[in-house]
Amino acid sequence: MGSGPLGDASTTAQVHPARLTCALAERATQAGCTVIQQQVVAVEALPGVSLRSGAAADSAAPGTPQYTITTQGGQKHGPFSAVVLATGAWIECANAWLPGVVPFGWRNVKVHSVVLQAAAAAATSCTATCAGSAGQVAVDSCQPSPHPGAQATSQGTVCLQEHPRALPATMLFVHDGEQGLEPEVYPRPCGEVYSCDISSDTPVPETPAEVQPDAGSCEKLEKFLRGLGGGLDDTDAFPLKAAQACYLPYAPGDQPIIGPSDVYPGVFIGAGHNCWGILLGPATGLLLAHQVLQQPVHFLSKDTVQSLAPGSTNCKKQPAVARAEQAVSQT
Ligand SMILES: Cc1cc2nc3c(=O)[nH]c(=O)nc-3n(C[C@H](O)[C@H](O)[C@H](O)COP(=O)(O)OP(=O)(O)OC[C@H]3O[C@@H](n4cnc5c(N)ncnc54)[C@H](O)[C@@H]3O)c2cc1C
Repeated sequence: MGSGPLGDASTTAQVHPARLTCALAERATQAGCTVIQQQVVAVEALPGVSLRSGAAADSAAPGTPQYTITTQGGQKHGPFSAVVLATGAWIECANAWLPGVVPFGWRNVKVHSVVLQAAAAAATSCTATCAGSAGQVAVDSCQPSPHPGAQATSQGTVCLQEHPRALPATMLFVHDGEQGLEPEVYPRPCGEVYSCDISSDTPVPETPAEVQPDAGSCEKLEKFLRGLGGGLDDTDAFPLKAAQACYLPYAPGDQPIIGPSDVYPGVFIGAGHNCWGILLGPATGLLLAHQVLQQPVHFLSKDTVQSLAPGSTNCKKQPAVARAEQAVSQT
């Protein structure tokens, strides 16, 4: 058994996925966007939108309405000039809406995680300061119950100072050959301890809301976590806050697919981030924003942009029109 540091506070940082996505949604709202949190059940092309076969479907002039979106309950939205499909492990569902829009053969790996919450930290008041300085975590105000000490700033965003910590900030990557476990452990500034491991090939349920942990997986992970020391075995001091599962989406070829559809003009795809979507997601969003607005992309090489685009990787072996025909024959 050995150990070694991967980095320090100047070279490493933690991202809290839920808070990051909430904060991005809030910023978008502040910038004038409307955020609708509903399940999409259909995307329909308006009459006259013709399928293409090529590296990227021709884009209409920005602003040309081309698609409507229907959400659960039957409410229709749009028409929209651009649609971004970014539904993670559910991306293949889009083929039922727009036949052949994404290649077939995605692989989704289910992974479990547990969160312990330090009772002491929950009772302690953290000092709120402004977001942006080192050692602080941005917490979006769309959190139903911000952590104690979190406080609204003038921008409507709340932030939480790292002090006082219930645990050291050190992340831990553990390998236990005997049990076949490799948990990652992330103590968070707000006194939570997040840990994930134990994968399975349980298929994705119909909707994300139906995802449940496999029987016994979170219990095994929690038991291992509590055995690591640091007082985590004390269930009063560190009660279980969450036991959950989510999916890593792997595109055919295992590389993310990001860019304009090679079949449907005005449709964009951002998916297949496998185990790196928290890190890569914001960059994916930036690239897609440039592509939707037809702005030049200066921050990535042409080759990189092309290699990520739908129509490269696996799609090459299955031309766009053939995919569309296959999708139609399967519906
Ligand atoms: C346990 C675990 C640990 C991880 N650790 C890391 C890490 O340390 N670093 C890292 O970079 N990445 C990590 N990842 C990977 C990362 O979480 C994923 O790569 C990332 O979430 C994928 O982002 P996405 O936006 O493509 O998909 P998702 O995050 O899955 O987002 C897709 C969204 O679409 C929604 N959706 C699906 N269908 C519909 C519909 N019909 N209508 C409306 N909405 C819909 C879903 O509800 C979901 O909110 C981890 C993943 C897991 C499971």
